[in-house]
This record gives sequence, C-alpha cells and structure tokens, in this order.
Amino acid sequence: MFSRSSGSPISVVTGGAGFLGSHLSDRLLAEGHRVIGLDNFLTGNTENIGHLAGNENYRFIRQDVSNYIFLPDDVDFVFHFASPASPIDYLEHPIPTMKVGALGTHNTLGLAKAKQAKFLIASTSECYGDPLVHPQTEDYWGNVNPIGPRGVYDEAKRFAEAMTMAYHRFHHVDTKIVRIFNTYGPRMRLRDGRVVPAFIGQALTGEPLTVFGDGSQTRSFCYVSDLIDGIYRLALSDFHEPVNIGNPREMTIKQFGEHILRLTESKSQIEYRPLPVDDPKVRQPDITRAKHVLNWEPRVDFEEGIRHTIDFFRSRVRPGGH
Ligand code: UDP
Repeated sequence: MFSRSSGSPISVVTGGAGFLGSHLSDRLLAEGHRVIGLDNFLTGNTENIGHLAGNENYRFIRQDVSNYIFLPDDVDFVFHFASPASPIDYLEHPIPTMKVGALGTHNTLGLAKAKQAKFLIASTSECYGDPLVHPQTEDYWGNVNPIGPRGVYDEAKRFAEAMTMAYHRFHHVDTKIVRIFNTYGPRMRLRDGRVVPAFIGQALTGEPLTVFGDGSQTRSFCYVSDLIDGIYRLALSDFHEPVNIGNPREMTIKQFGEHILRLTESKSQIEYRPLPVDDPKVRQPDITRAKHVLNWEPRVDFEEGIRHTIDFFRSRVRPGGH
C-alpha cells in the first residue's frame, strides 16, 4: 500500500497499460511519483508496462474502472485515461466506450473526491466533432452528431467534461481537462486502425496505403513525448477549463501518406477507400491557451517523431503481412 507518509506523490493512472497511459506513467515515475496503473486490457497491452515489472514505485491492478474502484492507498493525483480511443476500437466496443467515459469518469471523480486528490481527464478533439471553426479554440462548442457511429466516443467524452466540471463546481475537486488531438509514437497498436500505424504498417510490408475518401481531410499530429509534457504541466497548474494539447502542424491525409512513403522508402501504392461516416474534414488545435497557461508548445519535429515511430513498428511487422 502506498502511503503519503513516505513522501513522494502517489498517482493513479486509468488506462495505465494503454498507449498514452503507459507513457504518462513513465513520466510520472521519472518525476518521482509512485504510480498505480489500472487497466482491463480491452485495448491496453501488458507489453506497454512490461518494463515496469519489479519497480517498487509501480503497482498494477487489472480492473474495469466502469465498476467501483476500491483502493486502500493514499492518492494525490487521479489521471483518467481509460477508453478505447481509435475509431475502429470504439466502433467495435461502443457500449464499453460509453461506460468508461460516463461511469468510469464518475467513479474516478469519486475516487479523487474521497482521497482529496487532484483529477485530470483525458478528453479529446472529438468534442469539436466535424468542426465549423478552424483551427479549434477551447471556447468552440463543437459540431457533433450524437447518434452517428462516432457519437459513442464523442458524447461520452463531452459527458465526461460536464461531469468533471460538476465535481469541480459542486464538490470543489481540483480538476483539469486536456483535449488531446491526434497523437502518435511508439506503443501504438499496429492494428488499432488509426492512420499512423495503418500507413506505417502498410508502407513497411509493401501493401497499398488505404486512404479514406480523397485524402483531402486534414489532421495535425503530435509526438507522444510533447503531449505527455503538456499533460504533466497541466496537472501541476491551477487551471480548470479545458486546454487543447496538440501540434498545430496540419496536413492532408494524402500528404501524410506521401511523407510515410518517403520516410520508409516504400514502393507501396495508394488505394482509395470510402470515407467513414462523420469523419471530420479538418482538425488543427489552436494552442494559444496552452502557450499562455502552461508555457507549453511542441518541440519534436514531425520527421524526427515519425522516424522514431517507424523504427518502433519495423520490429513488429513481418514482410508480406502484419
Ligand atoms: N484514415 C485513412 N486511412 C486509414 C485510417 C485512417 O485515410 O487507414 C483517415 C481517416 O479517415 C481520418 C484520418 O485518417 O480522416 C485520421 O484517422 P484516425 O483513425 O487516425 O483518427 P481520427 O483523427 O479520425 O480520430
């Protein structure tokens, strides 16, 4: 059991075996925290936390945080990062996605309140839906289709933000909300369906790059260490309104595919597939607030970050199929 009497801060990370949860745990440990990771492995992976086995400052509990969370430990920070997060994952698991965004947020806020801990929720640029304001500022309320296939994720996260503000206003919990834009880096799942692992996997195996629609839709990609740095700064801040964290460098999906082909020196072709329902046409964070409030901006150059990510995936693909 972790107790405050022995000094260093104690953080709970839900989704602790996921892409972002595991990187966040590494950063917290490096900053001297003790960390309790929770994950039910719906989309998380033991491989992401294997290196923490035997670390006396880390404990892992297999748990679905949509169910009541009991922890005997003292807790200083609760980071709620559990959720399927790629369109394919939340289409495959629509109800667990809604539950972890709604019930999981309620449970983790309840944990923070009971432990008098600070609380930070991983929200998303999906709160803006298919945005009519570009780039997206935090005061934009969004353009979300509640009953479309992406609605399970978007509305769960919007509910999570509303619940977080209610706990802040009504119970005075010290809460923070990060709106995370497209993020990439090592530990993404090769088959999670998102464009970064999809294109890199396809380029490395010589399969065609599956561009959805005509590839003119835009995204802005942030390297994971930059994102985690923004989140860490936000956790230490006194700011309670949502903060966008992402890299404003915007490109079309077709341009992104061309960068991947060049950087992998791949001969893969481009193959066009139908655009998924409600796929946002543009996305770019306005990070003015993060710059002012957190003194944060991304530092890792796109090519450098993509090269690290390609190296990670190289060891995980087999030529001729992945
Ligand atoms: N996309 C694509 N091919 C793929 C996977 C995704 O063209 O194999 C497109 C997708 O339609 C979207 C963009 O890439 O416009 C980013 O998709 P992703 O699933 O990474 O996340 P999103 O930003 O839509 O949440």
